[in-house]
Amino acid sequence: MTYNVAAVRQDFPALSQNINNHPLVYLDSAASAQKPLQVVEKESEFTLHHYAAVHRGIHTLSAQATSMMEEVRQKAADFINASSAEEIVFVKGTTEAINLVANTFGRKFISQGDNIIITEMEHHANIVPWYMLAETIGCEIRVLPVSDNGELELAELEALIDAKTRLLSFTHISNVLGTVNPVKAIITQARSFAASCGAQLHVLVDGAQGAMHSVVDVQDLDCDFYTFSGHKLYGPTGIGVLYGKKLLLDDMPPWEGGGAMIRNVSLKKGITYADAPWRFEAGTPNVSAIIGLGAAFDYLNTLGRTVAFAYEKSIMSYASQKLKEVPSLVLYGNEQREGVLAFNLGEHHAYDVGSFLDQYGIAIRTGHHCALPLMERYKVPAMCRASVGIYTTKEEIDSLFNALQRIKKLLG
Ligand code: PMP
Repeated sequence: MTYNVAAVRQDFPALSQNINNHPLVYLDSAASAQKPLQVVEKESEFTLHHYAAVHRGIHTLSAQATSMMEEVRQKAADFINASSAEEIVFVKGTTEAINLVANTFGRKFISQGDNIIITEMEHHANIVPWYMLAETIGCEIRVLPVSDNGELELAELEALIDAKTRLLSFTHISNVLGTVNPVKAIITQARSFAASCGAQLHVLVDGAQGAMHSVVDVQDLDCDFYTFSGHKLYGPTGIGVLYGKKLLLDDMPPWEGGGAMIRNVSLKKGITYADAPWRFEAGTPNVSAIIGLGAAFDYLNTLGRTVAFAYEKSIMSYASQKLKEVPSLVLYGNEQREGVLAFNLGEHHAYDVGSFLDQYGIAIRTGHHCALPLMERYKVPAMCRASVGIYTTKEEIDSLFNALQRIKKLLG
């Protein structure tokens, strides 16, 4: 099956504009991907014609909106091959999902003296909630290091796991290096090390980058939690998914309290909570964004994720080769990197390089990418990051390459 990138680009009007008198070259999809018409139109059609508060209305419009929202829950389950829609919690995004797990699972199943394992390549969203939990309950955070070529030092995992290890939380794909972690192998190994020392280990996978570049099967991975954000998956901002194994979600207490997450509230008899996943969805949900997310799933399914992601891979290997030809450019990570290319241009600060590229209409991200421990690891204050999506072309990579050559000449 061939992939028609020109046709795909027609779905994304934002891509055909000029920025600073140059055609926009959008290489910042790892931060937020552009949205296809299909997503925006579905979301606005829902908002204009079907909108109503969900879950509590007796009237027809509310009932319709509720069933449309619940259909998306099923679509989300199918998208990652969860065994049921009841394993899907709607959240604002990956950040909220991890905070939810820290505050419900964490507070119930992790105690003083226990430990949590994260890695050196995590986004702050998968670091800070665990340190906040550790400050509250007195557990320990252990960190799996990253090698020079941007891979996890998996040989060190066994030594980190002991009888007190309760959680391993790591990213599927690094948002800085593009390293694709062998998630299934890591989980199998970790579970076997945990079993040999009697640890009750659970695993969370941060799929913010993983879900946008690979077809995810949570049952095959055998993770306990998997989470991703809509805005990186060509869907709306402010919506994301937390997958959790049903038995585990059933065992977790609620986090935020309010409407929609209760079964009964009596000032005399006390409060009982709704079943999972609704127990974790206090308040009025972002229903328009949920509908938009459903359209993003449909869009990617219609396009064919396998074909689209294979196309992205071809762009990535082209880009890796091209960037290596730029004098004094340092490219971080291994050769199998997916989605993102992190680099520095000689001694020039990433902000300067990013600002010059912007003058040529090229949008990249510069800074620490919410991964300060990785900047420490590589002893740099910042990196440039170009990231690709299902609409990126070789010509755009050539524009990046040419602009970097020019900047190199200008800045020396
Ligand atoms: N984890 C990773 C790997 C990410 O790339 C991001 C977003 N940059 C997040 C977590 C946080 O996602 P969000 O801001 O959508 O909550």
